[in-house]
Amino acid sequence: MRMLSRACSIVASSLPRCSSAAAPTMRGQPSLLPSVRKHWLGKPLLYGIGTLLVMPLRTLQGVGRVFGAGRFLCNMTGVSSSLQIELVPCLRDNYAYILHDVDTGTVGVVDPSEAMPIIDALEKRNQNLTYILNTHHHYDHTGGNLELKAKYGAKVIGAEKDKDRIPGIDIALKEGDTWMFAGHQVFVLETPGHTSGHVCYYFAGSGAIFTGDTLFSLSCGKLFEGTPQQMYTSLQKIVALPDETKVYCGHEYTLSNSKFALSVEPGNKELLEYAAHATDLRNKNIPTVPTTIGREKQCNPFLRTFNPEIKRTLSIPDHFGEDRVLEIIRQAKDNF
Ligand SMILES: [Zn+2]
Repeated sequence: MRMLSRACSIVASSLPRCSSAAAPTMRGQPSLLPSVRKHWLGKPLLYGIGTLLVMPLRTLQGVGRVFGAGRFLCNMTGVSSSLQIELVPCLRDNYAYILHDVDTGTVGVVDPSEAMPIIDALEKRNQNLTYILNTHHHYDHTGGNLELKAKYGAKVIGAEKDKDRIPGIDIALKEGDTWMFAGHQVFVLETPGHTSGHVCYYFAGSGAIFTGDTLFSLSCGKLFEGTPQQMYTSLQKIVALPDETKVYCGHEYTLSNSKFALSVEPGNKELLEYAAHATDLRNKNIPTVPTTIGREKQCNPFLRTFNPEIKRTLSIPDHFGEDRVLEIIRQAKDNF
């Protein structure tokens, strides 16, 4: 608990632990995902501080005892597994996430847009870097790969479909693969739409998903390489996860997204409340991330393609399928 001013552990007590911190790819059906199968620079001016320790996640089992002496907030059980997630603002509005398994000291980073903010965060805590996880090939998610890999010897993990586009990739994963991060089982969800090879990483035991540019708070990624149908299917996969799942997305776009969301569903009370909350957070330079699956289902128009008010606002015929509804919502947002 040395240097953490605001940190919280997640306790992955309901899942089997892997003994090897460095276990490579494991293939197989993720038994925990039946429903899914089926169905700041550092911008110091913007954010005030370079990094913020995010309070994750949840205790899956049992009652957590809260140690909250101000310096260290942590849910604890008798089980030893815990993962800390630190949000690191990069570039203009990207977020990278540093993952730290407290038990083994293993450290990873998700989507390092640039190396320096990550190196700064690691050096503050005298940590090494073992893994780099990329959700997709765009530069603002992989820009730090090679420098970090060269400095720390970290292994780069990414989508098999993007193995030719992800700098320095070592471990290529695909849908249905599970990969172990220091004993935390990570499920790979292929989520094409924004890019053809986009993947999300679901840390089931920690109740956390890293969604890159597929799912944002109150929006989804632009369709650069995929169809609305693909994006619809990808989003449905993600929202099949438990409502309390924390969503760590690639950008801080929530405030601007809320303006569009309110324009198409002005009568959504939860959305009105969340938009006000997000405004308040951003006014204090606090990230709106993570959000949760439950909140997004209530508020995100791209997950509400069934909603009569949205369809009415955008004059979408009743007989349109939800993927076509998503297409029209996406077009409307692109022109908003
Ligand atoms: Zn992108």
